[in-house]
Amino acid sequence: MKDNNCIFCRIANGEIPSATLYEDDEFRVILDLNPAAKGHSLILPKNHYANLFELPEETASKAICVAKKISEKLYTGLHAAGLNLVQNNGEVAGQTVFHFHMHLIPRYENDSAGLSWNPGTLTDADKAEILDLFE
Ligand code: AMP
Ligand code: ZN
Repeated sequence: MKDNNCIFCRIANGEIPSATLYEDDEFRVILDLNPAAKGHSLILPKNHYANLFELPEETASKAICVAKKISEKLYTGLHAAGLNLVQNNGEVAGQTVFHFHMHLIPRYENDSAGLSWNPGTLTDADKAEILDLFE
């Protein structure tokens, strides 16, 4: 299902032109307009899902296969030293466009992508609470 008010729906379905690296029946892969590093690309499903929680399992499985294929080509072709797969869900997690997408970010020595977090400490209380969820 497409949402006409969603910019990524319109890009994914070809209504708004984009620098497209790959397209099939279900996905379009485009270059990010504000790349964190050279080759930063976005995998967009053609159907509208706001986030990972709305994404059907079958689409999720296919998305990771597309990610692998395009990542390998970017990594090799751009002589990258590494690559981050990033996927944000919710404003608090940094999501700014509420149409599921995966970031492919090739990494280079001394680049300025700056993807990091402050490592915390796993407390016994948190560990017990979380392990309980999976009992
Ligand atoms: P996120 O913060 O995970 O929601 O990522 C949204 C990404 O979409 C950002 O990296 C933006 O630079 C990128 N972006 C937003 N609008 C466009 C557009 N029209 N074409 C390409 N990339 C876009
Ligand atoms: Zn959409």
